[in-house]
Amino acid sequence: MSDSGKKRRVLLKLSGEAFGAGSLGVNPDVISSLAREIAEAAQTVEVAVVVGGGNFFRGAELSQRGMDRGRADYMGMLGTVMNALALQDFLEQAGAETRVQSAIAMTQVAEPYIPRRAERHLEKGRVVIFGAGAGLPYFSTDTVAAQRALEIGADIVLVAKNGVDGVYSADPRTDPDAEMIRHLTYQDALQRGLKVVDSTAFSLCMDNGMPMQVFGMAPQGNVTAAILGADLGTLVSN
Ligand code: UDP
Repeated sequence: MSDSGKKRRVLLKLSGEAFGAGSLGVNPDVISSLAREIAEAAQTVEVAVVVGGGNFFRGAELSQRGMDRGRADYMGMLGTVMNALALQDFLEQAGAETRVQSAIAMTQVAEPYIPRRAERHLEKGRVVIFGAGAGLPYFSTDTVAAQRALEIGADIVLVAKNGVDGVYSADPRTDPDAEMIRHLTYQDALQRGLKVVDSTAFSLCMDNGMPMQVFGMAPQGNVTAAILGADLGTLVSN
């Protein structure tokens, strides 16, 4: 609870990578563990989630292999809906109430994206999962995370990363001198070309004063801690 008596509200961005791959397309063990962490934190914090779909399809990659870009991007967006449904299932098994809202109409499986309704769900303690990106080709789910966070009045965008625990001065896998940057301005991130999220997402947050925290999903407990407000990884702000 903040000073004003309002609950903390976060927008968590999970990339498709976080959902695993393999013959099932998604990794139920990984999603189940992630869902338990989110459900625990959602008892005290309002949590909205934007899911990526890179474990299924990335439009840009399919178009390089000859597909029409727009159609390939729609495949990408449909992939995010599959991840959203998987996350919903495991969140409910973990005891959380949930709603999925899709930017592409598919009323049998998800509500349409209605921001005011999403806010009502959050106030009632439900975890809201946004699927189908923005419903627009040529966008990424990073940009959608920034946009949804702004539209529902979230306090922060939390970007959960696989295999890295924040933003580094250089690639930590190849440069032993690479250091984690604990606080970064959007201006700096854009000027230095740091590819943590895409530049549209950065710009949207910068122009509208929305802070972003980039943190590692490992070790277990980090996702819960970040949602609850732990100072993990890198904070990007103006
Ligand atoms: N996508 C899109 N519009 C959107 C969001 C996503 O066209 O608003 C498509 C795009 O093809 C993208 C794919 O969906 O490559 C999966 O999303 P993204 O690459 O952002 O997922 P992540 O990298 O987070 O797993």
